[in-house]
This record gives sequence, structure tokens and C-alpha cells, in this order.
Amino acid sequence: MTGLFAHTVRPALLAASRADGLRRLVERSPVTRKVVRRFVPGDSLDDVLGSIAVLRDSDRYISIDYLGENVTDVGDATASVQAYLDLLDALGRRSDTAGDGVRPLEVSLKLSALGQALDHDGQKIALDNARTICERAQQVGVWVTVDAEDHTTTDSTLSISGDLRVDFPWLGTVLQAYLRRTFGDCEELATVGARVRLCKGAYEEPASVAYRNGAETTDSYLRCLRVLMAGSGYPMVASHDPSLIAAVPEMVRESGRGADDFEYQMLYGIRDDEQRRLAASGNQLRVYVPFGTRWYGYFMRRLAERPANLAFFARALAQRGH
Ligand SMILES: Cc1cc2nc3c(=O)[nH]c(=O)nc-3n(C[C@H](O)[C@H](O)[C@H](O)COP(=O)(O)OP(=O)(O)OC[C@H]3O[C@@H](n4cnc5c(N)ncnc54)[C@H](O)[C@@H]3O)c2cc1C
Repeated sequence: MTGLFAHTVRPALLAASRADGLRRLVERSPVTRKVVRRFVPGDSLDDVLGSIAVLRDSDRYISIDYLGENVTDVGDATASVQAYLDLLDALGRRSDTAGDGVRPLEVSLKLSALGQALDHDGQKIALDNARTICERAQQVGVWVTVDAEDHTTTDSTLSISGDLRVDFPWLGTVLQAYLRRTFGDCEELATVGARVRLCKGAYEEPASVAYRNGAETTDSYLRCLRVLMAGSGYPMVASHDPSLIAAVPEMVRESGRGADDFEYQMLYGIRDDEQRRLAASGNQLRVYVPFGTRWYGYFMRRLAERPANLAFFARALAQRGH
């Protein structure tokens, strides 16, 4: 990543990702909506069901995220829960939810979409809402993973995930390698045998809590992954980084794991060829597929990740001008 991008453009995009006025403007623009389709297959349940049918044809596993982070009233949180229940019912009608092993189908949820940030009882509301979703997921044979958001929510999110794991031991938790605390969190979750998705982390965080340099984050990722691989849980390697993916087979061998004892994960629309290659060569590979109308924050974080993603967006806007 170039210095200008990492130090100037990236923080600006991440700051913009939290601006509500800008969100409303951008979400309504027909131009952006077209570009967004590269990362978000659609607004509706039918859109996402169509896209997962294609992904499943090439043996990829799925995690679906209903977009709608940072809700500010209870009604919106309840609407998110209902969207997940409708999604789970639709997934339950598919034939690939049977069996006891690794579930091909999963939903990912952000606790901020379920009310975590609400002034009164936010944590309890989010826990109750997540529990309702986990209960339905269990009934239909689908897994759930709780996404990680900015560092101010980490304690609350890990506490809610821990409570849910008591009743739903298959629940997945996300840890972000850029946070200085994460090595310790990995040690803890690897010991209790949790399913853990390890990612680099997608938010703008201060140096007091996070590594802000790419090389330090990559080193932290490798250290954390080694702990997860050596532990008794199920590691989920969420990254598109070729250097990290190349390091995985040796760690897997060292830990005595088989191909079914961990998985790779990538985002919808990113490194599709690499996703297919990993899945075709006997690995478990899960694609994170977001859908819904509230794609703004997710989309801005993808633009902030890579100059090429921003260039792709700029080119599409420019072509539209001709
Ligand atoms: C399944 C999944 C779930 C996630 N969940 C969360 C979450 O809950 N919370 C959170 O904070 N973050 C989450 N993330 C995002 C994550 O934190 C990172 O922001 C994101 O994955 C980018 O980091 P990276 O490891 O892919 O490496 P990067 O540093 O972005 O990329 C490293 C290298 O990968 C290659 N690469 C990347 N993109 C492309 C591309 N489009 N084409 C070709 N090569 C490419 C390039 O060589 C690049 O230099 C998730 C990511 C994944 C994959």
C-alpha cells in the first residue's frame, strides 16, 4: 500500500464510512449502486440466494451478512432480526444444511445491527436478539459467526459471544490481528475450543490499541494464527493476502490438522480465481456474502483497503461521464 494511500486516503475513507449524511446520499446514487454490485450481490433475499447457488456450484461454503450496522433505534434492531429469520428460513429449505460436521452455510452478524450501541440496555438487547437468531440457525442447520467491529465494542462483543457459546458451542467469533490485545484473546479462545475467524481488521484505530503498519499487522496475524492452529478450536483464515495464505499449509502440517479442521475465508468479489483454486484443491473455503440496501459502510471499508479498489470505483464513475 502506498504511503499516501495508507496515511491520507485510507483514514479519510474510513472516517467517511461513518458519516450518516454521506451514507444517505451515496446509497441513493444509481452510479455507485452499479459499482457496489462487485462487492454486494444485491439488495434482496432473492438476489443473495441466487448468488450463493452459483458459489455452491464451485464447492465454496458461504457466510451471509445482512447489512445494517450501527442501528440507532430498537425498531431497526428488530427489523434486522426479522431479516435474519427470513434468511435462515430460506436457507433451511436448501438441501445442504443437513449433517453434523462443518456447516456449508453460515450467517455473519454485527451486534451493532442488533442494538449493541443503544443507550439503554444495548448489550442486553443485542444478546437477546443474537440468541433469537442462533436458536433459529440451530433449528435449520446453519452456523452463526459474530463479526468484529471497532475496538470500543470488542469487550462487549467478546462477552456476548462467550454467553452465546454456552448454549451454541458452534458459534464463531472474529478476532482482528491489528489489535494489540488479540494475541491474548487468541490464546483464550484457542483453549476453550472456539471457532475463530482471524482477520486483519477493517476499521481506523489509534496506535494505542492497534498496529498501524501493514508489516506489523501481518506479523501479528501469523503469531495469532499459530496459536489458533495449535489450539483445540476451529481456525478460520480470513484474508486475501498471498503471503498469509502461503504460510497456512506448513502451520496446518505442524499442528497435525487435516483439511477439514480449518477453513479459508474471503470476501465476495475479491480474488475469485484464488477462491476457486483453493476450493478445487481440496480445501474448505468460505465466501462472506453481504446483501441488503445498507451497504455504504461495508463498501467504503472495501475502498479503503486497496488503492486498486478505489481506482476501480473512480474508473466506473469516469466512464459514466462519457
Ligand atoms: C471472510 C472475511 C470476514 C471478515 N470479517 C471482518 C470482521 O468481522 N471485522 C473486521 O474488522 N474485518 C473483517 N474482515 C476484513 C479484514 O479485516 C480486512 O480488512 C480485509 O480482509 C483485508 O485484509 P487482507 O487480509 O485481505 O489483506 P490486505 O492487506 O487488504 O491485502 C493483502 C494483499 O492481498 C491481495 N489482494 C487483496 N485484495 C485483492 C484483490 N481484490 N485482488 C487481488 N489481490 C488482492 C493483494 O496482494 C494485497 O496486497 C473480513 C475479511 C474476510 C475475508
